[in-house]
Amino acid sequence: MKTILATQQLEKKIGDNLVLKGIDSEVQAGQVIVVIGPSGSGKSTYLRCLNLLEQPTSGEVLFEGEHLNQLSETDLDQVREKMGMVFQSFNLFANYSVLDNVNLAPLNVQSLSKAEANKQALALLNQVGLADKAEAMPSSLSGGQQQRVAIARALAMHPDVMLFDEPTSALDPEMVGEVLNVMKELTQTGMTMVIVTHEMGFAKNVADEVWFMDDGQIIEKGTPTQVFDHPQEQRTQDFLSKVL
Ligand code: ADP
Ligand code: MG
Repeated sequence: MKTILATQQLEKKIGDNLVLKGIDSEVQAGQVIVVIGPSGSGKSTYLRCLNLLEQPTSGEVLFEGEHLNQLSETDLDQVREKMGMVFQSFNLFANYSVLDNVNLAPLNVQSLSKAEANKQALALLNQVGLADKAEAMPSSLSGGQQQRVAIARALAMHPDVMLFDEPTSALDPEMVGEVLNVMKELTQTGMTMVIVTHEMGFAKNVADEVWFMDDGQIIEKGTPTQVFDHPQEQRTQDFLSKVL
């Protein structure tokens, strides 16, 4: 196994609030990690520390063996290109077509011709089931479709890992399934993924490991069966009894 992402004693203080309390974690290449836990427990902050969207207060973040805290901003930007991120709010560029949304970063960063970029973008749109929407504007799409474009956009940079922060929380219920399906298909390609979600059925289905976070710490880790069916910690049991 090859460790792709790791944190060592990761701490994040926001004001007087110690939001992350010394997190040791490891993600192996090809693993699908699902992070669950109550609102305010630090899940988003943890995810944002992984690509240094948040600056850790102390501790280490390692990506493919490099200590991210020690990199210059330029080197860090290159590393961030290897980590795709999908948020609750899709934030597509409203003035660009779906195809151009997917193409924007590759054309700016990779030395691709427009024709090559278009071909790649169409293949990705096909992967998320939206090839027929290439010329559409984002505002004409449903929330579920927009989120699938956001996933294609993140994949266009050929990331080594994909980070998802509650990608279906802003969606109407009937659109959750289509986004989870795209994510599930992505797990089958061998992509390394860290997913924060409240979709427990999905977590059971796709996770190699489930991590339960509470109060700035990872309280419990294990396979879905271990965490959902045989939780060891009282706090995990209390949380699950509310959400399952
Ligand atoms: P989760 O994603 O699990 O809901 P967050 O990582 O968003 O949790 O937040 C963890 C804690 O950090 C919460 O108590 C939240 O209020 C606090 N927090 C997060 N971001 C900020 C911020 N920008 N300013 C002040 N407090 C923050
Ligand atoms: Mg959050």
